Amino acid sequence: MSAHIPIAPPLEPVLVVDDVTKCHPGGVTALDRVSLRVDAGELLAVVGPSGSGKSTLLHIMGTLDRPTNGIVRVGGHDVHTLSDRHLSALRARSLGFVFQHFHLTDGLDAAENVATGLLYAGVPRRRRRPLAREALDRVGLAHRHTHLPQQLSGGERQRVAIARALVNRPALVLADEPTGALDAANGEAVLDLLVELNAQGTTIAVITHDRDIAARLPRRVELRDGRVTADVYEVSAV
Ligand code: ADP
Ligand code: MG
Repeated sequence: MSAHIPIAPPLEPVLVVDDVTKCHPGGVTALDRVSLRVDAGELLAVVGPSGSGKSTLLHIMGTLDRPTNGIVRVGGHDVHTLSDRHLSALRARSLGFVFQHFHLTDGLDAAENVATGLLYAGVPRRRRRPLAREALDRVGLAHRHTHLPQQLSGGERQRVAIARALVNRPALVLADEPTGALDAANGEAVLDLLVELNAQGTTIAVITHDRDIAARLPRRVELRDGRVTADVYEVSAV
């Protein structure tokens, strides 16, 4: 193959956390001057032991919580300057969330659960179900559109939750211990899916306490006692 030199303007990072401190009520400093930048197309792990500040960081990256000090920028917008209403809109447009325990709604079938990911994004009702079906197809659940959560395995439920996170094509997907409630085989399959979705262009941050999972991802940000102790990129072995 001939040498290829990409010429592209510098892109705004998807997310910037700049010198962020978070003190919880009771005086716990959960994050201590954390800085982190996520560029489009990345797949990274935020890894650390229990109590290291991972969930706190996820909430701040996800604009669900505000830092005590420091700056968070999502798609170039300084979160601090936005009203709650504008912040909700930015979140709905830019971010997708995956949680350990799936957080699906019991009475809704798979496609309806996925369509809830479009509720706050201003997508007209008639467009929601087709987009939800498309997202379910992307996660390998084309044959499960009308199944209820209780008719699905844990691995399938997590794939529905991933489809819901993806359906609005967010700039960044934040996954908090996405394999934590799954057995080894299903956990492996969900991780494979995240890797595959990233290869197709989705930017994903996986929060995990599991070093084996982190080792599978191309970038690892290590947290300990609320501080970033390492931020390393895999050197491609290929
Ligand atoms: P992790 O997800 O890595 O286990 P957390 O972000 O949940 O870590 O917690 C980091 C530290 O902040 C811990 O010492 C925890 O007890 C404390 N903490 C987390 N949330 C709160 C809260 N809402 N109020 C008070 N302390 C909290
Ligand atoms: Mg946690």
